[in-house]
Amino acid sequence: MPCEVAARFLIFYGSQRGQAQSIAEEICQQSAEHGFTADVSCLSNQHKYNLDSEIRPVVFVVSTTGDGDPPDTAQKFVRKIKNKSLPHDHFSHLRYALLALGDTNYANFCNGGKTIDNRLQQLGAKHFYATGHADDGTGLEVVVDPWIEGLWDALKKTFSSMATSDQLGADLSDRTQENYHKNASDKEKNKSDLEVDLHLLKLSEVDSQKGRAITSDSSDAETLSTALVASLKQSVPPLSECALNVPALPASYLEVLLEQVSTEGETVPSDKEGFHEVSISKAVQLTLDNAVKTAILLELDISVQNIAYQPGDAFDTLCPNRASEVEELLLRLDLQTQKNCAVQVNLLKNNSKKAAKVPLHIPQNGSLQFILTWCLEIRSAPKKAFVRALADFTQNGSEKRRLLELCSKEGSADYNSFIRDANVCLLDLLRAFPSCLPPLSLLFEHLPKLQPRAYSAASSSLQHPGKVHFVFNVVEFPVRPEHPARTGLCTGWLADHVSSILRPLGTVPALERLGTSALPKVHVRPRPSSTFHLPADQSVPVVMVGPGTGVAPFIGFLQQREKEREANQEATFGETWLFFGCRHKDKDFLFREELARFAHNGTLSHLIVCFSRDEPDAVGTVNRPTYVQHNLRLHAKNVASILLKDKGCLYVCGDAKNMAKDVNDTLLEIIGNELQIDKLDAMKTVAGLREEKRYLQDIWS
Ligand code: FAD
Repeated sequence: MPCEVAARFLIFYGSQRGQAQSIAEEICQQSAEHGFTADVSCLSNQHKYNLDSEIRPVVFVVSTTGDGDPPDTAQKFVRKIKNKSLPHDHFSHLRYALLALGDTNYANFCNGGKTIDNRLQQLGAKHFYATGHADDGTGLEVVVDPWIEGLWDALKKTFSSMATSDQLGADLSDRTQENYHKNASDKEKNKSDLEVDLHLLKLSEVDSQKGRAITSDSSDAETLSTALVASLKQSVPPLSECALNVPALPASYLEVLLEQVSTEGETVPSDKEGFHEVSISKAVQLTLDNAVKTAILLELDISVQNIAYQPGDAFDTLCPNRASEVEELLLRLDLQTQKNCAVQVNLLKNNSKKAAKVPLHIPQNGSLQFILTWCLEIRSAPKKAFVRALADFTQNGSEKRRLLELCSKEGSADYNSFIRDANVCLLDLLRAFPSCLPPLSLLFEHLPKLQPRAYSAASSSLQHPGKVHFVFNVVEFPVRPEHPARTGLCTGWLADHVSSILRPLGTVPALERLGTSALPKVHVRPRPSSTFHLPADQSVPVVMVGPGTGVAPFIGFLQQREKEREANQEATFGETWLFFGCRHKDKDFLFREELARFAHNGTLSHLIVCFSRDEPDAVGTVNRPTYVQHNLRLHAKNVASILLKDKGCLYVCGDAKNMAKDVNDTLLEIIGNELQIDKLDAMKTVAGLREEKRYLQDIWS
């Protein structure tokens, strides 16, 4: 086989929020350095290549969305390969590697990728390299970086084996799988080798373009050696003294032109993506001022747009970046006077980025201020590739060295602590590294799309026709050495946005109500859930677990049930259990009166609450349950009976990081005890409940 043909491979990505796409593009970009040529394509463009007869190696990068689903762009491909009429050897010619992206905070980790992987295997396709499962919960790069590193060797072996034989040896996949695992474990070993060899390293600055060694100059070394504690701005030995392996400089590919025409007055995003501008007709603070968190209920008037929804659905909500942060960014980039200029974005002629495209989320001729406000996620933690690129626009030697450390292999732990875990954003970096002055094009190349935030409907349109309610906590991030105190982007903005109409719980709106035109507005788009709804059969019993704002969809469920019961008094309704929890009975017991009404009129058969921070005396019980899972355990017999005997449903909503995991562990325990089975079998039973859509989660972090 001619070398040129042999070294060409395909990359397909299935991306929901752009991460899989940017990893696929990164692989494509790196392929040239390793002597390969790659074609990269979205799985939705699969018609461009015929996998049914594709003999080149194929790399898939697939993310996961919703309840473990493949991304929307991969759905058609999945449907196609799931076709039951395909023979079991349909893909026996196909050699592939797959990188699955997921988040262990959610159920069905990496399931989007696993679905495709399993089906390709069933249809006879062979791995030429072990599947990688990258976890956004701990940092995708922990798996992605070594996986990509190992990919090149695996490809080389695949191509050389293709050159000698049409058939890949079965042992190839084993060897390359070993290779990947070895790569990951070698990381640790290399680190210690590096530390031992530190004293041998010469401190000199060398070219970084192709990921070669970088070390600091002697004056910087002096400064660094006096530092005792590492921070975002400075490192300590051994990192401050070692040679660095930095990623290759990402190819620049955009040209940004600013044209002096006034675009003033352009303040809202377009409705291209199905968003509707609606009025916020009510805003109520549900918590007392001295509660740890502030929860706010919003009522949106969706009657004019006639938007339909079911309890269990959510709404995507657009929010802008903070005006003060946009202003500071403009000032810092010396672009303040050009904020109203129209922006033209083009591909750089002769750019070397594979499959370069002008990002779709940056509108042509939008003003600079508009783009920074509504289109780019300026709060996101800069990825290593961005940090690498920023280093090239940094004048000061020690600042540049620190940025290179932060994106280097050796500085991985520092990147995690001082950028990723500290949620440092571009502006924080620009504050910490004053000599860094990137061009606008670099921001447009690296800042991701500003994503809408989702909020679950906390109402039923049977009870509130033409309206939808949301409830959210104002997210607060305390001050850190790396950044000032701030609120969550959307929740902080919403809280400010409704301040003119916000009233405490239990107070009536002022008489002189604002006319509709003066009410605050917000852009929303329904985000229907395919599964998180009350069972169609009203006699099926349900258990709902929703502490804090996790109670939101259940308020919608219960409002719907209340109305259905009123309308159909003869019908049989299954038992309804709600496990709710908050910190203090008197400060943050959300929907207290409404829940009491549901319990009183029988809509809710059992309302089980707990308060995690009340003194035992305040509720009169010593050893009281603190969290929802403790109450679940106390009612284990009922929960088990509903799920195992009565074919009931369990719904869990709210915090993905702790609560959902604790509830899941408790469920395993309850089922294990009830059926007298071990943990593995309990896990299988719980997996069965998920499969039957009788254990449903709507969780977020
Ligand atoms: P962001 O600014 O986006 O910050 C959110 C996260 O980023 C934090 O949790 C944290 O992990 C990280 N972060 C950002 N900056 C920092 C920092 N400086 N320090 C530390 N960490 C940081 N939420 C509700 O309150 N109610 C709901 O009903 C609801 N329903 C949802 C339904 C669905 C289907 C989904 C997917 C999510 C839902 N959410 C809900 C979550 C909601 O969409 C938002 O994620 C949440 O409100 C925070 O948004 P934000 O823009 O204020 O915070």
